[in-house]
Amino acid sequence: MTEHDLTLVAGSAETSCGPDVVELQHLIDGNWTDSASGETFERHSPASGQLISRASRGDASDTEKAIAAARKAFDDRRWSDVPGAERARFLNRVADLIDTNRTRIARLETQESGKPISQAEAEIEGAANIWRYAATLAWNIRGESQNALGPDMLGMVLKVPVGVVSIITPWNFPFLIVSQKLPFALAAGCTAVIKPSELTSATTVLLGQLLIEAGLPAGVVNIVLGYGDPVGTVMTTHADVDMVSFTGSTGVGKSIVAATSATLKKVSLELGGKNPQVIFADADLDEAADAIVFGVYFNAGECCNSGSRIIVHEDVADALNEKIVALSRKVPFGDPMNPETRVGAIISKTHQDRIDGYVRQAVDAGARVLLGGEALSIDGLSGNFYQPTVVADVGAQMPIATEEVFGPVLSVLTFRTFDEAIALANTASYGLSAGVWSDNVHTCLEFVRRAEAGTVWTNTWMDGYPELPFGGVKESGLGRELGSGGIEEFLELKTVQMRIGKTRQKWV
Ligand code: NDP
Repeated sequence: MTEHDLTLVAGSAETSCGPDVVELQHLIDGNWTDSASGETFERHSPASGQLISRASRGDASDTEKAIAAARKAFDDRRWSDVPGAERARFLNRVADLIDTNRTRIARLETQESGKPISQAEAEIEGAANIWRYAATLAWNIRGESQNALGPDMLGMVLKVPVGVVSIITPWNFPFLIVSQKLPFALAAGCTAVIKPSELTSATTVLLGQLLIEAGLPAGVVNIVLGYGDPVGTVMTTHADVDMVSFTGSTGVGKSIVAATSATLKKVSLELGGKNPQVIFADADLDEAADAIVFGVYFNAGECCNSGSRIIVHEDVADALNEKIVALSRKVPFGDPMNPETRVGAIISKTHQDRIDGYVRQAVDAGARVLLGGEALSIDGLSGNFYQPTVVADVGAQMPIATEEVFGPVLSVLTFRTFDEAIALANTASYGLSAGVWSDNVHTCLEFVRRAEAGTVWTNTWMDGYPELPFGGVKESGLGRELGSGGIEEFLELKTVQMRIGKTRQKWV
């Protein structure tokens, strides 16, 4: 194959980034501040190499100041005493401001992450809706009462905010992921310290500006820019933090569980996935092929929900592979700032090498590359791009089939019986999502029952709604975001037992 067989979108003067460098500071106790050390770090576009942002580089002392501000804001009840209806109004104001600033946020998201501008815009629009959904929950925090404990006793279960939450986010959906956490934490009455990935700090800073514009009291949300060590380490070990909400790799998720154990913090984790889609012989192969291509190339495959592993009945494997390869050639890869582009740049050269390593390793172990399998050159852009890649004859135990590749790389495995398909689907240590393609509702429902996953899609892939919970089982995480339970993660139960009247029997 040559790159000319693909649909490539070259960089051009009109669509290239051409940015003014954005200067980013920490938000601590309502003030935008430089690091105590004065140090900074820079982010260059992974597509064009241009300098995009320069950010204050937080250290332990900056992080401790942010935690102290969040602690004080929680303890003096400046936010948790605000009635739910008013918190809801605030969240809706933020949503409106996100909408008003969508183009600006999306542009920065694309410049820092390399994702296509059309997807960044859709992501920001989706994020605004999550803020609106969380607003409905802020207005509806209800405990329960127990009125059958006997004539002289009334029981109540109150829901109270957990306290100070550390929110640590990755680079793949920077604005969306912080929006899956922060509005629910604020709806519950918590205060927060946020650390975005150092690769994608800018849009979290923009969000901070919008929170201030919407009228959030100082100290309720604080943002510290910088690296996992030391910023993340302090945020997960400090005694004044009550909870850590983290999205990222399973490896770091495990180290966060260990780090928080000394102070027994509540932990919520959204981690990796190696998400199988099983295609039965009676499936609509055209529909399936289209969804598979979307599932593996969306966000360049840098997606915890990436549909990177398909398990297809051997009778239809060749036919499906042919359709997938033909569609893959049509997907526009290239300049993320061009509205036509569907797949943009890979986040870093290091990550691109890692993706390529999985493909090389699979080929050495006997797998067959049907399409792609190499880095991609895009005219006019010097950044990191990887070809749409389809790898067949993949063995169930190969790392490409069991580990998160996080790139535009599809692994194809085959099966003969239902039990074999389920066994293959459940092989991975992950359990984030799974999918089934069949025209038979019984086959779909049997798969739904037996798949080890937090979400199962039937005859579709990667739809998502704020109303529906999201999270994983096994090594894909702990807890759930979104849905009506999304706020529960940030609430504790407090039991109240009230003796009614002077009926208490004396003990002595
Ligand atoms: P990480 O899990 O390493 O990082 C996610 C966030 O955690 C970042 O803000 C990071 O900071 C921070 N962090 C890192 N180490 C610590 C620590 N010890 N304590 C507290 N916070 C910490 O993901 P990466 O961004 O490095 O991506 C690596 C791989 O992780 C990807 O290739 C992919 O496989 C997977 N991944 C999965 C995601 C998912 O949604 N499931 C999302 C992103 C990545 P810093 O940026 O400074 O490292």
